[in-house]
Amino acid sequence: MTCDQCGLCCLYYRGTSWARKEDLLRWYDEGRKDILQYVAVPGPDGREVTADTLSRGDLEGIESISGWTEPGTGRDLHPCPFLEKESTNLYRCTIHATKSLTCRKFVHEDWEMFIAYRDRFFSP
Ligand code: SF4
Repeated sequence: MTCDQCGLCCLYYRGTSWARKEDLLRWYDEGRKDILQYVAVPGPDGREVTADTLSRGDLEGIESISGWTEPGTGRDLHPCPFLEKESTNLYRCTIHATKSLTCRKFVHEDWEMFIAYRDRFFSP
């Protein structure tokens, strides 16, 4: 399939294991605190913190996270905060080069139905 950046997957898909340990560690190694600040996880003392405050060793203890949260409030964010609208029905992933494995591998299970749905409800 060819992605034409309609944004529908990123606007509506919210699967489990949104990001996995390898994503968190890659973002740590790349210095991407701007991404890790959107990840709420239990800190060493059990209280919720954002992942940008944790060490690499702490992050190694996290298997996966299932969504993004607003830095400061911990409020669930939906849609993804890294999705940027460029124009009508044209979106861009602002962290494309390092997005999670879940996002990289995502292909809708029924692509033809997905396209039909998109064309019906989201045509310009
Ligand atoms: S990280 Fe990028 S590809 Fe993944 S949901 Fe957000 S905008 Fe879409």
